[in-house]
Amino acid sequence: MPVTVPLIVVMGVSGCGKTTVGRELAERLNVPYADGEDIRREAGLADAFDEPSDEAVADWLRRRAASGGVVSRAALRRRDRDRLAAAVPGLYFLHLDGSRRLVGERLAERKELFVPHDVLDAQFAALEPLAADEQGAAVAIDGTPAQIVDRAVDAARTPYCVQLATGVHAYIQPDGGWCLSNAGFVSDGTTTLLVDTAATERRARLLREAVLASGAPDPALVVNTHHHGDHTYGNGVFAPATVVGHAACRQQVLAAGRHLELVWPEVEYGDVRLRAPDMTYTESMTLTAGGAEVRLLHPGPAHTVGDTVVWLPEQRIVFAGDIALCGGTPFVAFGSLGGSLRALERLRSLGAETVVPGHGPVTDPGVFDTAERYLRYVGELAAEGRAAGRTPLETARAADPEAFAGLREPERLVANLHRAYSELAGEPEGHPLDPAEYFADMAAVNGGEMMPCHA
Ligand SMILES: [Zn+2]
Repeated sequence: MPVTVPLIVVMGVSGCGKTTVGRELAERLNVPYADGEDIRREAGLADAFDEPSDEAVADWLRRRAASGGVVSRAALRRRDRDRLAAAVPGLYFLHLDGSRRLVGERLAERKELFVPHDVLDAQFAALEPLAADEQGAAVAIDGTPAQIVDRAVDAARTPYCVQLATGVHAYIQPDGGWCLSNAGFVSDGTTTLLVDTAATERRARLLREAVLASGAPDPALVVNTHHHGDHTYGNGVFAPATVVGHAACRQQVLAAGRHLELVWPEVEYGDVRLRAPDMTYTESMTLTAGGAEVRLLHPGPAHTVGDTVVWLPEQRIVFAGDIALCGGTPFVAFGSLGGSLRALERLRSLGAETVVPGHGPVTDPGVFDTAERYLRYVGELAAEGRAAGRTPLETARAADPEAFAGLREPERLVANLHRAYSELAGEPEGHPLDPAEYFADMAAVNGGEMMPCHA
């Protein structure tokens, strides 16, 4: 199954082929598809010529947050897209982009669809192409339908930049699964601060190209949100930048070494030169970099023991690292369950408007609520399972986490239970557990096979 962004709106003017492309794209991605009529029918609305409301479309998409889904919709105006995007965190737009002449020719070939010239002219006049601060990409509509769909699939699996504020970008790697982590950068055109560096040399170089393409210079500072290789393996590509991180992150990078290879030896990592943070802090550190105030906050043991949250108070943007994953299952085996709940509370108290999660599309603080509900559920499950004398694996197998069926990587439940059991036994938060043990258990619930690395 191709790795792509989860929720997609295929948009464009009448005659651009959004219904055909949307349907075929959904088929290729093996996710559900809906056009206006499907959505009206599912919402129980009377048949009408009009497009269904934004609310009905948003509902349909939100219900597919887990499985993914594709919708085709005109969405020509920016404010219409903004309304939809606000209602569906992480929504991604694919704009089927063709000239007035090409669309006119396509329409002339389609006997079943009659669109008067003046209506098409009005649509082109209303069309506001995707801007740098929207999540999405344009796809050219010349060539055959198969070629257009190929391009759409490519676009939906390609890392992309979203401008979140002046000088602030998120760098998102679809689909945000195992090892496909996000990054971000803050720049005023003179200095650049980068947050996290991807899992392979190739991906780190693509990230560097995206930074330079935005007009920002090479980063002078790299902040690591934690030690995991999908956030730090690319550090070497940004030498001689100073790498900043929590003191425990430095220790963990040095202690863990080439740890991704232990789980995923088959991946082509390229020329990875491990670099641990050379500048460290313990509680918080404020930097002025890229023209912005950048606060590094350590919330205590959470996703790992050395997490850093990167908070831009002026822009109200937070890079949450892997404490928040959009569409993914929280993962606390390396850190702490109780500590993660406190970290989520701290993240919430910042009052951020925009959250860049460690994996998955840019979202809002609602992602903290999902993580909290899930972790409380894990805590309850662990207490019951442990009292009944069941192992974490037995507890995970007996569980029915229906309420969280929408989250990717459900296998993390068993690893999270290992951590919850440890805390119930009175071991300190962040007490080292053996990853070999909980990765083996995750493979066991994943049908006996290790989950594939998506990088
Ligand atoms: Zn991580």
